[in-house]
Amino acid sequence: MHWAYKIAEELINKYPDKETFVCASGISPSGSIHIGNFREVITTYFVVKALRKLGKKTRFIFSWDDYDRFRKVPKNIDQSFEKHIGKPYSEIPDPYGCHGSYAEHFEKEFEKSLGIFGIEAEFIYQSKEYKSGRYNRYILHALRQRKEIYDMLMEFKTQESSDDDRNAFFPITLYCDDCGRDNIDSIRFDEENERIRYTCKCGNDRVLSVMNAKNIKLNWKIDWPMRWMVENVIFEPGGRDHSSATGSYNVSKEIARRVFNYREPDYVAYEFIGIKGSNVKMSSSSGNIITPNELLKIYLPEIILFIFSKYKPGAAFNIGLDEDVIRNYSEYERFKAKHLMGSLEDEGLSQSMELSEMDDENGTVPKFNQVAGILPLVNFDTQILKDVLNKIGEEYELNDVKKISDRVEYWIKNWYTEKMISLSTSKDTAYYETLDDVQKRWLADICIVIGNSQYLSSDELMKAIYDVCHDDDKKVKKNNQRVLFAMVYRLMLNSTSGPRLPLLIKVLGVEKTISLLDFNK
Ligand SMILES: [Zn+2]
Repeated sequence: MHWAYKIAEELINKYPDKETFVCASGISPSGSIHIGNFREVITTYFVVKALRKLGKKTRFIFSWDDYDRFRKVPKNIDQSFEKHIGKPYSEIPDPYGCHGSYAEHFEKEFEKSLGIFGIEAEFIYQSKEYKSGRYNRYILHALRQRKEIYDMLMEFKTQESSDDDRNAFFPITLYCDDCGRDNIDSIRFDEENERIRYTCKCGNDRVLSVMNAKNIKLNWKIDWPMRWMVENVIFEPGGRDHSSATGSYNVSKEIARRVFNYREPDYVAYEFIGIKGSNVKMSSSSGNIITPNELLKIYLPEIILFIFSKYKPGAAFNIGLDEDVIRNYSEYERFKAKHLMGSLEDEGLSQSMELSEMDDENGTVPKFNQVAGILPLVNFDTQILKDVLNKIGEEYELNDVKKISDRVEYWIKNWYTEKMISLSTSKDTAYYETLDDVQKRWLADICIVIGNSQYLSSDELMKAIYDVCHDDDKKVKKNNQRVLFAMVYRLMLNSTSGPRLPLLIKVLGVEKTISLLDFNK
C-alpha cells in the first residue's frame, strides 16, 4: 500500500468518530521556498488526498510562519537588509519591491507554484493571527506556566538547569514597540495584573498588557503545540532537523500534553532532497537553490508530483536535471499508459499515479524523449515539430506540443547542452573513408531503401533498414545494427545517437538525407 494511504488509514483507525481531519504543514518565508521545503507541503497534500479518497472530510492548513524573527540575510539578497535583523518577516520591506513585505514576496511566489500543481491549502499567516489577538490567552497561559515550561525544555538538554536561568526564562519573542526588533534587555512579568514590563536595547522602557499586545510571539517549541491545539491538528510532517530524539517534535509533544492539554498529532519525518545535474549544490544560505518553479520549467507538474509520491517521506532522493530527465519522463509515460489501461499491477505505484493526478489533466502530449531528439534539429520551432509528428501519424494540439517543447528547449539550453545536436551540413568524406567495404555497401543499400520509402510506414521502413545488415547469427546481426545506426547518426548529426530513423528522415526529407549518406554520387 502507498505510504500516504497507510498514514490515512492509521488516522482513521485512531479517530473513528472524527468529522473533519485537520492536517497541517508550515514554512517560514525566509527566502524562496526550495524543493526541499516543498516536501513539507507535498507530504501533507498526499495524506489529505488519501483521506479524501477514503471518504473523509479534511482541512488542509498551511501555516506561513511569517511572525518569526528574521535571522540572517540570504546571500542573494541585498546585504543592506542587515538592518532588519530581529524584526519579523512580515514587517520587513520586500527586497524586490513588488509586494507588501519580505514575507509576502516569498509567500506569493510559492503559493503561485502550488496553484500550478493544483494544490489548494488554507493559508494561515501567523503574523496576522498573532496581531489579531487570537492567541493572547494562550500566551498569557504560557507566561503563567513559564517555569514549568523551562523545566520541560531542560529535560531535553544536556546542560544543568539553574534557578537564575529559570527565573529569567520567558517562552516568548517580544518585538519592541519602538524599534520593531526583538532586542529585549529585560522582561518582568506582573502576573496579577497580566502585564509585562520590558526594556529594549534601543532605550525603550514600556509596560504592556499581555491580553492586548500584538507584538508578543510564543517561541517555536511552544508556538507549534499551541497551534496544534487551536486548529485541532491530527497530522503534520517535519524535516529531519525537527525529528531527532531531542528535536522540536518531541519537545513540542510534551508541551502540548502538559501545558495545552492536547494530544500531539501523528508525525512523519521527511528526508532531504538533492538535485543531480551539472554542478548544482543546493543550500538556502548560499541562495543557490532550486525552486519548484525551476523544476516546472523542465518537468510537467504531474511528473514532479509522481516523483515525490513514489518515495516514502523517510527516503532521501535526488531529482535529476541531467539525462535523468529523459529517464523520469519515459518511466512516467510508461506507467501512465499502463495506469490508463488499468494494467499497472503494483498497488503502490498505481496509488502513486492516483495521488499525482491533477484535476485538469493535460491533453495527450508527445513523448519527451522524442521531442528532445527532434527539437534542436528544427531550430526549436514548435509548429515544425508538430508537423513532423503529424507526418509519422501522431496528432496533437499545438498547445499540448508546446507543454513539452517549451520544457525540452529550456532543459537543453540550460541544463543539458549535450542534446544540442544539429544536422551535418555536408558529406563527411574523411569519415566515410575509414569504413570497410561491407559498411560502405550497407550505406549504398540504405540510400536505395530511403529513396523508396515514401509509401512505407515507420515500422516497414525500420524493417527494411534492418534487412540491409541482416545476418543469420543473432549476435552478429545485433552488432551489425549497432554499427549501422552509429554510422548513420555520425554522418547525419555528427553524434552517436539520435531520434528514430523514420522520424529523422521525415524531419530532413528524403533528398537531404540521401545527400548526406550517398557517397557514390
Ligand atoms: Zn527597541
